[in-house]
Amino acid sequence: MHAESPRSLAPSTIAVIGAGIVGCCIALELQKRGASVLLIDRDQPGQGCSYGNSGAISTSSVAPLAMPGVLASLPKMLLDPESPLRLSLAYLPAALPWLARFVMSASPRGVEDAAQRLAALHHGAIERHEALTREVGVPGLLLRRGHLHLYPDAAALAADAQGWAMRERFGFQCERLDRAGIEALEPRVGRRYQAGVSMADQATIRNPLRYVQAIASTFAARGGQVIRDEIRRLAPVSDGWVLHGTGGTFHADRAVVATGAWSRRVLDPLGVRLRLESQRGYHVQFAGAGDVVSRTVVLADRKIFVTPMEGGLRVGGTVEIAGLKRPPNMHRAAILERVARETFPELASTPAAYWMGHRPCMPDSVPVIGPAPGRPGLWLAVGHGHLGLTDSVNTAWQIADQMGAA
Ligand SMILES: Cc1cc2nc3c(=O)[nH]c(=O)nc-3n(C[C@H](O)[C@H](O)[C@H](O)COP(=O)(O)OP(=O)(O)OC[C@H]3O[C@@H](n4cnc5c(N)ncnc54)[C@H](O)[C@@H]3O)c2cc1C
Repeated sequence: MHAESPRSLAPSTIAVIGAGIVGCCIALELQKRGASVLLIDRDQPGQGCSYGNSGAISTSSVAPLAMPGVLASLPKMLLDPESPLRLSLAYLPAALPWLARFVMSASPRGVEDAAQRLAALHHGAIERHEALTREVGVPGLLLRRGHLHLYPDAAALAADAQGWAMRERFGFQCERLDRAGIEALEPRVGRRYQAGVSMADQATIRNPLRYVQAIASTFAARGGQVIRDEIRRLAPVSDGWVLHGTGGTFHADRAVVATGAWSRRVLDPLGVRLRLESQRGYHVQFAGAGDVVSRTVVLADRKIFVTPMEGGLRVGGTVEIAGLKRPPNMHRAAILERVARETFPELASTPAAYWMGHRPCMPDSVPVIGPAPGRPGLWLAVGHGHLGLTDSVNTAWQIADQMGAA
């Protein structure tokens, strides 16, 4: 864990653009270090991707999404509508440059490099989230009961051996379970699942939206400004940055871009080129059924997360590469609903609500955190992909530490 002695910042005004989990954590941390902070979003805090994620604080997820062999899986992504990874044929030409980088990053060296960097970023995240939930008055949102990963049989578990070996190499405890072991932890899991791995030292946030809202409210209660505006253009000036919004113009000594999957819209015109792509994910929430499981359960063969949320059972997952503009394809959510009802028969008559969000993804799964190259005073906290909740709090510390040292 990093040394817990924060370096304070010289008095300054810092604008944080984007009030998702990443931007809110950064705004609060910079404020605590002495800066005067504006937190700007076109919407209320937490309405982007951070609204509907699966709540997993998954520090053991060190394997990037692109693993060796990913090229062979691309045809299935294109052709099989049931594949956990789906690529829209109409969007393929626009996605090609990103996909090429994604495939290239899957070399053994690229994977090892990404895993090292992800492990370093995840380090100590659970303890930091525990402290933050207490600080912002929602300690009950953090559930420390571990994660349970499920497979239909031992052969399916063995097919994922590479990912498990990587987790173990990074020091995570992985306990193999048979059907009796699964039932001892989660008795309501259907009989499709006969093999599992329990990871006792992982955590869950039981309401990601309420968490973001609590962080933003604490920031505002301590004198931070939460501004509702869409930033259309950023302009460097002699003493900082001017942010041009649809409703106003803001000046700051420094600006942090934390606008998730939409970040290229503000960065491209500045010549700051990020290989960022939206990986659209979906969830289905079964109202009032939050007690069907008692911890995060991962249906590993289908890459689906099942979470006991405050408002019900949330079943989230799937990756769809189809860009920012196309309407949600709720067939993806319907697949999640069907799998959930098959796995947990007691959900049979529980109504389900659908949601789609844009994960901000870099080809190598590693977010970009730090100063923007060649643009003094502009900072980036972008590309947290599948792990933005997990890494939000450590991202905030990294940005604040680096700003303090700059
Ligand atoms: C189905 C699903 C499940 C997931 N499960 C997990 C999980 O279990 N654990 C985990 O760690 N991660 C998970 N994630 C990933 C996680 O949700 C994201 O990585 C994270 O929410 C990204 O946070 P963010 O703050 O960068 O982006 P966002 O939450 O999208 O926030 C960006 C904000 O910027 C604002 N914005 C954009 N452009 C502008 C502009 N020009 N001006 C002003 N405001 C602007 C938007 O309104 C938005 O509020 C999941 C994602 C999905 C889709």
